[in-house]
Amino acid sequence: MTRRRVTLMGSTGSVGANAVDVIRRRGGIEAYEVVALTGGRNVAVLAEQARELRPELTAIQDEAAWPALKEALAGEGLRIEAGDAAVEAAGGLPADWRLAAIVGAAGLRPSLAAARAGGVLALANKECLVAAGEAFLAAVEQGGGKLIPVDSEHSALFQIFEADQIKAVDRLIVTASGGPFREWSRERMDSATPEQAAAHPNWSMGLKISVDSASLFNKALEVIEAARLFPVRPDQIEVLVHPQSVVHAMVGYADGSVLAHLGAPDMRTPIAYALGWPERIPAPTPKLDFAALSRLDFQAPDEARFPALRLAREVLEAGGLAPCALNGAKEAALEAFLERRIGFLDMAAAVEATLEALAPGGEAYDLQDVFAMDARARRFATDWTHDHRRAFA
Ligand code: NAD
Ligand code: MG
Repeated sequence: MTRRRVTLMGSTGSVGANAVDVIRRRGGIEAYEVVALTGGRNVAVLAEQARELRPELTAIQDEAAWPALKEALAGEGLRIEAGDAAVEAAGGLPADWRLAAIVGAAGLRPSLAAARAGGVLALANKECLVAAGEAFLAAVEQGGGKLIPVDSEHSALFQIFEADQIKAVDRLIVTASGGPFREWSRERMDSATPEQAAAHPNWSMGLKISVDSASLFNKALEVIEAARLFPVRPDQIEVLVHPQSVVHAMVGYADGSVLAHLGAPDMRTPIAYALGWPERIPAPTPKLDFAALSRLDFQAPDEARFPALRLAREVLEAGGLAPCALNGAKEAALEAFLERRIGFLDMAAAVEATLEALAPGGEAYDLQDVFAMDARARRFATDWTHDHRRAFA
């Protein structure tokens, strides 16, 4: 039997490591031929993964990390490259299945290379859809492959959205855990630290998405992601706070039926779904124990404390490069918050100020416009964070 050829971009991250775990438990290199692994700067983890999975190419983005990676893999006979171009090239190597799990708009070029190469694109790197929208989907189409979302809510939607019943789809509901500040007052949120923001109650994830979950900017990105992936109007996409993170998404139909997708909060389930698609394969996720769980709670999100959701609706309404500007500004503001230059609530203020100043809107755009808007939004938001710098103890 020929082994399926897989590439893992961002293999050293949280989603990447979960994918390695799923592959390992499915037989590892006996079952899969690993074409490429890419990492940002984590030499130890990338080297360990490369030793185990024997990829044709191991690429590390940080060029300064190349000598250490070379040394860690000395004598293994593996091809090792470094730099942005190497990571991007890894995305385009011939493969049947590619995981795009780099974080942020930094993943755009490599994920685009993967999209253009065809095959299955298992997309965790949601910022590609948020920032580049139509242009990213056009690259997928050009490649002739199939995009399978890995974001848990969108994997859920993909499974319960009856594409042949589009006219009868009434609404999509994306759930949010509410994050660590679900019950915090605005005053308390104002002085929240990066450590507090990163302490997600249910999911174990990378640092940036954890903080985005606390501000609900992650959910804002996901509303935009859902609007790109499914043929519904933005006003048909709802967010519901659901502290247990067991129901990942729901689709409401015209006859009053609501289909829900349930699962443990474990990324190995959506990763396995994308890896097996169109078949279902086993994942090492613990089984849901409904008796132990005993209840599922839902509540409307509080947009006064979480303005990210309103901003998502506004940029979808504005169209064009507005979602791209939101994402770029958010990434810059997140950086400033992690560096303790601005407060937690200032992140949304920085994004809002950027959107007001740049007023991006409904014009048609191509990838060059996307990169230009991303850079402009980052610059504006970064300047804003310097002008609104705060002193933290
Ligand atoms: P992470 O920070 O844990 O990992 C990110 C990966 O990207 C790492 O391998 C890192 O080395 C690499 N990377 C970072 N900057 C890079 C650069 N400039 N060039 C090349 N590689 C770079 O992030 P994560 O939590 O695994 O999230 C990855 C993506 O998946 C994000 O888009 C996130 O929103 C999405 N996602 C994550 C989860 C989750 O459970 N963690 C769930 C849903 C969606
Ligand atoms: Mg998600």
